[in-house]
Amino acid sequence: MKRVECPECGSEVELPADVVENEILACATCGIELEVVSLNPLKVALAPEEEEDWGE
Ligand SMILES: [Zn+2]
Repeated sequence: MKRVECPECGSEVELPADVVENEILACATCGIELEVVSLNPLKVALAPEEEEDWGE
């Protein structure tokens, strides 16, 4: 199991063995979305927030 540190809360986030670059994962502790930016070395960054659709 691969692990990285959540940049938001510092908890360890487990990554699936078949994780791929640009995959979006959620931190189990704080729930924030993380994007895998690099596999070697393993690095994640906060995923860009999706634009909300403000239309009503
Ligand atoms: Zn977190």
